[in-house]
Amino acid sequence: MEFNRPVWAEIALSKLRKNFKEIQKLTRNRKIIGVVKADAYGHGALQIAKTLEEEGIYSIATASMEEALTLRESGIKIPILTLGYVDPKTLNIAAKSNIQVTMFDKNFIKRLKEYKHKEILKIHLDVDTGMGRLGVLPQEVPQIVEEISRIKNIKLDGIYTHFSSADSDINYTKEQLSTFKSILNLLKRKDLLPPIVHAANSAAILNLKEIYFNTVRPGIILYGLSPSNDTLEGFEPILSYKARTIFTRKVPKGKSISYGRTFTTERDSLLATIPVGYADGLPRALSNKGEVLIKGQRARIVGTITMDLTIIDVTNFPYIHPGNEVVIIGKQGNEEITASEIAKKIDTINYEIVTRIGKRVKRIYKDGD
Ligand SMILES: *Cc1c(COP(=O)(O)O)cnc(C)c1O
Repeated sequence: MEFNRPVWAEIALSKLRKNFKEIQKLTRNRKIIGVVKADAYGHGALQIAKTLEEEGIYSIATASMEEALTLRESGIKIPILTLGYVDPKTLNIAAKSNIQVTMFDKNFIKRLKEYKHKEILKIHLDVDTGMGRLGVLPQEVPQIVEEISRIKNIKLDGIYTHFSSADSDINYTKEQLSTFKSILNLLKRKDLLPPIVHAANSAAILNLKEIYFNTVRPGIILYGLSPSNDTLEGFEPILSYKARTIFTRKVPKGKSISYGRTFTTERDSLLATIPVGYADGLPRALSNKGEVLIKGQRARIVGTITMDLTIIDVTNFPYIHPGNEVVIIGKQGNEEITASEIAKKIDTINYEIVTRIGKRVKRIYKDGD
């Protein structure tokens, strides 16, 4: 029995496999740390991680220890790196679970010195070369690395930096890169360079082809989306977001529709209601602005999008009735609506559109063609 409303996201794992292979090709087989934070950008971290593991990915990265542990407990075997905050009390659990943690604050060294367990804890050091979010300062790196090297059962396995503008400001990115390289050279001369060195996010993989170090750290392009809301050659979006109409009705000219009466029918109309609202990640800002696909054509969203329901105008569409498939993101017939198209309409990025697809929306996974 189906107790859910008819709204779901289809995730094509075969396309994820292709996108992964495309990254291998672009980076000439560098090690890949696939970023699966925020439930794999809304796609479902476990299925995404499993598929990448099958493809032989080197490692995956999460935002939190909770995300990492959930994956480990669900059977993911490859190394997992946490990119963000970690409670020092959880360091032993991390070590036992082959979860590597990021050190992004030099004060964390105190916590590392208190680590007295027998399991080796692997860490990566995040260097702030210009992102201005997390990370130790470049000039602090040599001393930090030296101190870490003297702590028993802590191993500095990686060093990385994060670009702020690899999709929009190549000169700034190159400055970040040269800061990072000079630190790496310094460490190399002191024979303190950790084995895993990474910097490139998706935008850098696409735009900075000459420099990848030995490892790259893509997120959004795995999911087939562009880091700059553009179209993206060589990659294909893996997610489609769909629903079925649950109600259709003829409405005479001059009737107001939905909360706040922001839309009034300008003609005798046929309207359809779909069981998707802003709580499902359909941005309310698309009210009277967004479109969906039905019968292979674009239909306008009319009136205010509500928490659970949205109304579309299907006047003059053929044979509309409850149960028709509606595409919010994806292809139908010869038409396509992308997450990037939606993002541009409401002045945000495709990342936000897919990560916001709600918990109530069931993810359905398809493998093979
Ligand atoms: C999210 C994130 C990435 C992935 O970025 P994309 O733009 O999705 O490729 C890489 N590194 C860090 C530190 C991140 O936070």
